[in-house]
Amino acid sequence: MKFFLVAVSLLLSVFSFAQTPDEVLRSIFSDALTDRSAEENLRYLCKETKGRLPGSEAAARAVEYTARALREAGADTVWLQEVRVPRWERGRESGKAISSVLGELKLNVGALGLSVGTGTDGITAGIVEVNSFEELEKIGREGLEGRIVFYNRPVDNTLLNSFAGYSGAVNQRISGASEAAAYGAAAVIVRSPTHAEHDYFHTGVVRYYEGDHGIPAVVISPVSADQLSDWLDRDPDLSVEIISDCRNLPDTFSYNVIGEIRGSELPDEYITVGGHLDSWDITEGAHDDAGGCVQSIEMIRLLRNNSVRPRRSVRAVMFMNEEMTSTGGKVYALEAEKNGEKHYAALESDRGVTSPVGFTFSATGERLAALKELEQFFRPYNIYYFERGGGGSDIAPLGALGTMQIGYIPDTQRYFWYHHSANDTFEQVNLREMQLGSAAITSLIYLVDLFDL
Ligand SMILES: [Zn+2]
Repeated sequence: MKFFLVAVSLLLSVFSFAQTPDEVLRSIFSDALTDRSAEENLRYLCKETKGRLPGSEAAARAVEYTARALREAGADTVWLQEVRVPRWERGRESGKAISSVLGELKLNVGALGLSVGTGTDGITAGIVEVNSFEELEKIGREGLEGRIVFYNRPVDNTLLNSFAGYSGAVNQRISGASEAAAYGAAAVIVRSPTHAEHDYFHTGVVRYYEGDHGIPAVVISPVSADQLSDWLDRDPDLSVEIISDCRNLPDTFSYNVIGEIRGSELPDEYITVGGHLDSWDITEGAHDDAGGCVQSIEMIRLLRNNSVRPRRSVRAVMFMNEEMTSTGGKVYALEAEKNGEKHYAALESDRGVTSPVGFTFSATGERLAALKELEQFFRPYNIYYFERGGGGSDIAPLGALGTMQIGYIPDTQRYFWYHHSANDTFEQVNLREMQLGSAAITSLIYLVDLFDL
């Protein structure tokens, strides 16, 4: 009986070696589409660690949970990597327009991350609506000093690439405060960079220029932005009151969470797959980016569970503090450099976890041509986009060391309905779509490693 079992297991191992790449992909996809541990991991991160701002207790719980999940997924080694992070806390916040003609209008506003606060008394001032920094220049200091600048340029809905639409509007959020402060403005209100026409505000980071102490910066929901603009047309002399009692605190420490499967043939070469564990304070951060973390954990589980022994060492990394100052990615690359690790490739999933479309690669020439040929393996799964492009902000520091960057590309048309808002919940993720992504990522890493791409 014992002999028989040994013979069977030998036969099975020979059989698994004899599996074609197509068969390996089939088994990875079938596993991803039927196993439920990813759903539980996503549920936990969304519901039990909501608002995972770096340095928060929620973030600490997420670190602890994902370390455990990586062990359960089958990682050989799991460890934490210390990361210095900024601390910022939202306070009481509100906004309203006050017009002697029209009355009062409640505005749905929220502080931008790392913004200075207004204090508990808030700021009440006249308001100037603009669509660009050039308009500020035209209006000049006389028209702007002591007033609140209202940036109301919407995302361009005609752009098919939703990220291009976002990029076209987000400079108002990132640099608008410092641009307006240069003309003596008292505060800024920024239209949320989203394609959605709803009443959620979409926060994100504000970056003050060097030497600028900063003026308070808030975002406003699209619905409130349209109402405010309409009221301004009818009463240009109205004033707005903003209360945003947020504050910056001294830096603290948090962690990247890393799980590794040691390579069978080239253990000193590494392939990293990651997402970021932190989220904005007002959201479950399901698509951004609990889903990307869950997919990275799934990669470990799917390789293990389908007996794919990677030739190179493969790591799943939950990066900390992508949203505010991206120190997690920097620490990871610094450590890699210090330890003399050769990082062969790195993939980031941080564009939401809707259905997979394909991958982008930083490679050029023959390497890119060979990577594009992988498309044939993914045709049965309707994954077709294999093009040159970037990876993501957490793996970019590795890119500076020469590591090939891979971006995971899902269908992003809905992404900015959720991004950085309270609307980014567990319920907005379709498990099947997320898991098609987990399988696609795992399959791609398997093939890149197998064929030395
Ligand atoms: Zn993100």
